[in-house]
Amino acid sequence: MNSKDIKMSSEELEVVEPRPRVSLNDLSPASVEFDSSKSATNCPWANVVQPALQQNATTLNDIMSEQLAGDLQFEEEREFLKELLKSEDPDVKISELMDVPTNSDDCSSDQVIAQMLQMQFNREYDDQIKRVEQKFNGSSKVSVSLSNYMVSPVDDDSDSDEEINYNQKSWDSFEAYQKSFPAMSKAGYVRVNNEVVTKHDMTMSGRRNACRVMEFPPGISTGDGASFDMQLSNKVFNTLKVYSKAEEGRRTRVHDKIDKSTSEMAIDAKTRLLLYKLVNNNILDKVYGIISTGKEAVVLYASGGSLSDETEVVTEIPAECVVKNPRKIIHLWAEKEMHNLNRMNKVGIPCPSVVVLKKHMLVMSFIGKDGQAAPMLKEVKFSQDSEEDMQLLQSAYNQVIESMHKLYKQCSLIHGDLSEYNILWHENKCYFIDVSQSVEPCHPHGLEFLYRDCTNVCNYFAKKGAKDVITPESLFFDISGFKLDGSGAEILNQVRDYEKNLELLTFAKTEKPYPFEYCWEKSQK
Ligand code: ADP
Ligand code: MG
Repeated sequence: MNSKDIKMSSEELEVVEPRPRVSLNDLSPASVEFDSSKSATNCPWANVVQPALQQNATTLNDIMSEQLAGDLQFEEEREFLKELLKSEDPDVKISELMDVPTNSDDCSSDQVIAQMLQMQFNREYDDQIKRVEQKFNGSSKVSVSLSNYMVSPVDDDSDSDEEINYNQKSWDSFEAYQKSFPAMSKAGYVRVNNEVVTKHDMTMSGRRNACRVMEFPPGISTGDGASFDMQLSNKVFNTLKVYSKAEEGRRTRVHDKIDKSTSEMAIDAKTRLLLYKLVNNNILDKVYGIISTGKEAVVLYASGGSLSDETEVVTEIPAECVVKNPRKIIHLWAEKEMHNLNRMNKVGIPCPSVVVLKKHMLVMSFIGKDGQAAPMLKEVKFSQDSEEDMQLLQSAYNQVIESMHKLYKQCSLIHGDLSEYNILWHENKCYFIDVSQSVEPCHPHGLEFLYRDCTNVCNYFAKKGAKDVITPESLFFDISGFKLDGSGAEILNQVRDYEKNLELLTFAKTEKPYPFEYCWEKSQK
């Protein structure tokens, strides 16, 4: 208490005295009056008329004892607040948080009480929000935080342990019960408090079932199990399980349908994403419409960007490109097509050049001009009345035969699907395309494929009226060196015989033991 306090006059005191000190005895109904006309102070609480005892306190002694009592009470309140806030530094925190001036001259006890009540209310309100949050999140791995709605949000890190306990206690108590139970032995029973509990125990299996329900797929709402000891009978659990499986299957089917329908119309989601990446990486400038949606692949028209590798070497990308992706996402097909095209380009067979391979998508040069794809040979009209057309047809025939030879002899490849549908006619040149299924001559059915290619090509040109078209057998012989006699089914049988003989020959060359002998030997070792 300082000297200034002591020197205060009684009038001053009446004005500045913030807290009326009322003993319990004084608070008899008769001594307490509420006077609305005297509500001139700032305190939001109703004014309590000073009891007679205090109004007459005018001596210095009275004043001093009055102040001493006031200070003691204020100290008491501070202690109480300190407890409440669990604050280590009440001087700073209490005054800061509650806006309570440390100087008792500036405050009234009603204000402090009001603030304490407000604090308590806030805490209860925050607890309520916390409970709503816990209930909403349940045991989900992805949780929603409502801390923004709290009056004083809690720091996640500081009391995360508390939250875990809270979770276990309140929401999935049956899980905690289940865990507290000793693990079941292989024999199918355990001893608990000297009692044998078998795996068929109703309570145990009930809790186990409840735990299992919580592991159902995310789409199945399981509720939160609340704070009770949830137990589910086998019958209920099995019904829920059957339902969850059926529901999951249904969802998958629906997605399947969506994916499929999209890919039938154009391209599936994965391919779309890859296309975005190609554009983002500037490999492609723009992706335009679909050139062809065959049974096997989708071919898109795109304008090329620029490609630079780690060493910043910029590879020129053709201004016009196609993006081909197999319908079934089999990376191997696109990869195979890329290798085959590269081999063909090396020996000068007219075909698209490879730009880049991204997973199941192959970007290659566009055969055509200004977005107009070159026609397939099948679509080209070679009029037999026009000499020029016939010359072009003859040239096409020669080109195709030459490319077939090169393909077999220099690339060691058999197209496997060569026909007027997979040859594009561009600027009077025949371009071979669609080589994803091409095989090497050593393929078990390679020769059969070659014979089929020869038949397709010879039949087409003969039908179109080209001159000097040789027979498929002759072409087959010219290319492969295998002589075929006879006609129809006989020829096909001969081709198959060749293949068998070839296989045996290759087998003999590698000097591999007969498989049975080999396995027998291995088993003896
Ligand atoms: P599919 O396996 O569907 O037959 P293709 O490789 O034959 O696939 O391509 C289908 C169609 O797409 C072709 O008939 C052709 O019209 C067009 N096409 C394919 N590649 C190109 C290309 N590089 N340039 C222009 N058009 C192409
Ligand atoms: Mg094709």
